[in-house]
Amino acid sequence: MKKIQMQTPLVEMDGDEMTRILWKMIKDELLLPFIDLNTEYYDLGLEYRNETDDQVTVDAAEATKKYGVAVKCATITPNKARMEEYTLKKMYKSPNGTIRAILDGTVFRAPIVVKGIEPCVKNWKKPITIARHAYGDVYKNTEMYIDGPGDAYLLFKGENGEEKKELIHHYEGAGVLQGMHNLDASITSFAKCCFNYALDTKQSLWFGGKDTISKIYDGRFKEIFAEVYEQEFKEKFEAAGIEYFYSLIDDIVARVMKAEGGFIWACKNYDGDVMSDMVSSAFGSLAMMTSVLVSPDGYYEYEAAHGTVQRHYYRHLKGEETSTNSVATIFAWTGALRKRGELDGNQELMEFADKLEKATLGTIEDGRMTKDLALITTLKDVEVLNSEQFIIAIREKLTSLM
Ligand code: NAP
Ligand code: MG
Repeated sequence: MKKIQMQTPLVEMDGDEMTRILWKMIKDELLLPFIDLNTEYYDLGLEYRNETDDQVTVDAAEATKKYGVAVKCATITPNKARMEEYTLKKMYKSPNGTIRAILDGTVFRAPIVVKGIEPCVKNWKKPITIARHAYGDVYKNTEMYIDGPGDAYLLFKGENGEEKKELIHHYEGAGVLQGMHNLDASITSFAKCCFNYALDTKQSLWFGGKDTISKIYDGRFKEIFAEVYEQEFKEKFEAAGIEYFYSLIDDIVARVMKAEGGFIWACKNYDGDVMSDMVSSAFGSLAMMTSVLVSPDGYYEYEAAHGTVQRHYYRHLKGEETSTNSVATIFAWTGALRKRGELDGNQELMEFADKLEKATLGTIEDGRMTKDLALITTLKDVEVLNSEQFIIAIREKLTSLM
């Protein structure tokens, strides 16, 4: 069989621990036999990040800007324990944080839906994708404890000498106080990312805020979304047969619970933090959740939503058998390969991505899966496979589809 060719390199970011082991197995068993894999490789494993003073992470992000599409393995975010474990020169920042700071953009998280792993919410038939705004609000707040009577004001001093002042509260006794902010530029780029991703995936976009209570702050989010939609996206949405829908956040939550899925739910920062954990756990498993960073300039970085599965790695190092789920990492690859194919007009590559996903889901639907899924599946008499057996089972199915 002739291998599939790729015109443009895909930026490949390798990572750490158990996911690094899976990464190699996925390449060896599921990609290299079928594709003349054209990647520009960056080793984001913690050892090499340390060796390069984290320059490799910056280089990988810059390469993503150059080529447009990246696929990333999970990586360790160093903490105190990791400083000792890897004798690090310093406590490097999270690679995802560094990459996001360079590419800007919004992270979209979607569950991988498969027969046999049923959502707790019985009417959810299709994935619900959460788009979380990643700037400002309570995550960049200023807080105070007020320990006695007095007046708290909101004060703005313009560089042009303009001053605005509002009484927040007259305290009769002790209490708490908090200030937070957001920016038109950040909200606009969030809105654009969401609208573009909705078009890209042909799914409607829902967005909720609390503008009845927070008339200026949440009102500004609502206004910017509406402006961006009217100016740049309305016609495209109509042509694609999808809709943009704004409502109050509590109304959106109620509708989400009753919906069948298949849409994107744009969330303000805090709502996204809370709702993404609700949606992901209700869909079944962190190991079945994909994540893609979409930049406002149209760059894409695909990854699994879970971490490096450290506990399994330590078992692997001791020579014990592991049953680590590679689905989300496989889907990071298929997402990236499909996008690369789309951008290059490479039909074969896009079809390969579809087939690999089909083979992966088909393997689970046949009742052959890793332990994490075996514990929650509704299928009977399943066969629990170890990390490697699962990937080999997928390869058998993939070969029959090729
Ligand atoms: P984790 O790697 O997501 O794993 C937490 C637990 O979830 C595992 O111990 C395992 O449970 C289960 N799990 C997660 N993924 C699984 C999979 N693919 N197959 C089977 N079970 C899976 O989170 P963590 O242990 O808190 O973090 C480990 C490292 O990952 C940390 O250094 C952290 O910095 C990093 N991290 C990286 C990213 C990223 O690069 N995007 C994201 C999060 C965390 P059982 O042990 O019960 O089987
Ligand atoms: Mg959280």
